[in-house]
Amino acid sequence: MKAGLTADTLTLSEFNTAMAGRTPPLRVSAEFTAQNGNRFFGTNGAFEFAYLPKQSLVRQAIQSTPQIKVYHGYCAEMCSIARAEQAGVRINSGTITQLRHRIENGVPLGGSIGHNTWIKPCDDCRPVLNIFNIDYKRK
Ligand SMILES: [Zn+2]
Repeated sequence: MKAGLTADTLTLSEFNTAMAGRTPPLRVSAEFTAQNGNRFFGTNGAFEFAYLPKQSLVRQAIQSTPQIKVYHGYCAEMCSIARAEQAGVRINSGTITQLRHRIENGVPLGGSIGHNTWIKPCDDCRPVLNIFNIDYKRK
């Protein structure tokens, strides 16, 4: 992650826009907010899951739920809760939101599914979020 692109200083939509041009291409950015108020951003394809220790409850939850997509565990939602867990923050009963990333060639794409619009967590992520009682419903 580039320096300064953290939940300490940015809103999720600001972060999502600042990530334009990243490789691999960004599709979704997520923000997890723990019950203690700590916030963590995540992106798809960040590979947090691959480096989680065996005792990680997030890792165990991902591995205990059905794999539907090829990249099971590599969504932005999983990245954000993995970062929270690795920071020592309790993730149970937190909240999460996620935004589409639709900037192509420097231009945000509009329309009903345009840049910075909410997207429901996928079929792989929802069972994991449910294990931790994390609220992912659109506010
Ligand atoms: Zn997902």
